[in-house]
Amino acid sequence: MTEPEVFPPGTTIGILGGGQLGRMLALAAARLGMKTHIYCPDPQSPAFEVTPHKTVAAYDDEKALARFARAVDIVTYEFENVPEPTAAFLAARKPLAPGVRPLAVSQDRIAEKEFLGRSGTAIAPFRPVLTLEHLRAAVDAIGLPAVLKTTKFGYDGKGQRKIERGADIVSAFTALSGSPLVLEAFIPFEREISVVVARNARGQIRDYDAAENIHRNHILHTSTVPAAIDDPTARKASRIAHQIAGALDYVGVMGIEFFVLPGTPRPELLVNEIAPRVHNSGHWTEAVCLTDQFEQHIRAILNWPLGDPSRFADVQMLNLVGDDLAGISAKLRPGMQPHIYGKSEARPGRKMGHINRVEL
Ligand code: AMP
Repeated sequence: MTEPEVFPPGTTIGILGGGQLGRMLALAAARLGMKTHIYCPDPQSPAFEVTPHKTVAAYDDEKALARFARAVDIVTYEFENVPEPTAAFLAARKPLAPGVRPLAVSQDRIAEKEFLGRSGTAIAPFRPVLTLEHLRAAVDAIGLPAVLKTTKFGYDGKGQRKIERGADIVSAFTALSGSPLVLEAFIPFEREISVVVARNARGQIRDYDAAENIHRNHILHTSTVPAAIDDPTARKASRIAHQIAGALDYVGVMGIEFFVLPGTPRPELLVNEIAPRVHNSGHWTEAVCLTDQFEQHIRAILNWPLGDPSRFADVQMLNLVGDDLAGISAKLRPGMQPHIYGKSEARPGRKMGHINRVEL
């Protein structure tokens, strides 16, 4: 078997997506002496301000994609809804890491659950739903409460309805129908945690300590590390993350979200979702790890040895959303590391930055 290519400093990394994750990847790439070329349809993309090269074009513009492919040495992405044909078009021309398969798996909740189930990962009971009759049968099988979700393009709680009682079935279905759906058992979790894991093409795997996540209005509010879980549970989450990265032959950084349920003798872990990209719940790594998740992703896709993910302080990441940025400089205290994304307009629910509060 030939060794996978190791990309040297000076490599041009193409990044699909120009949001804050692309911006932070570009900054990390620059620190390793790489150049970035960011591709995004939105001319106001925050990542454009920190990259030497950019393309503003639609994801289905094959001429622009072909030019982009010629201009870069390797391609990665910062969001999981990259259209599969776009990813396949680029993968036929340049190395794409992570590949097309992690996109296919994470873009469709049913494909994701089937992959996780096949790889032996515990998940919430679920049933695919296309019609109201399917939904009634799924409720009979799974019980209530349950959560009805669109299978595609759901994020930050969009495209979901909780069904508490039989009388909610029709309204939940009507609100979401028109696209394929999935019914999941409602999980009375004790807490939500996530693990950010990295794998390179040589199969080296490293993961960061689990973060405990609190959401507000369906948007991540804080990630706290360490999470309030015991060591065996933390080790189990880490094992599951390694196993998923290995099963996907994954190259890059990915985020894995878990529900933690009360259980005897140990809490039970169910995987809720996987995200084939750097993850909001991993931003704390910037402040308290020698190698943060962004550098780790760049190292992984270039097939460099992975960096040390160990954590040298307790930390909490706070997302700055909407108007939270107002007066920010006056709110900073010792131990706080701000990261502001440079977005021109603060809209409600828009992620504008984050602060890592380090326990000094
Ligand atoms: P998702 O888009 O699937 O990550 O869901 C967003 C959030 O909704 C999760 O982080 C949970 O807080 C909540 N949630 C989603 N699915 C379930 C479920 N089956 N049971 C309980 N809470 C859920």
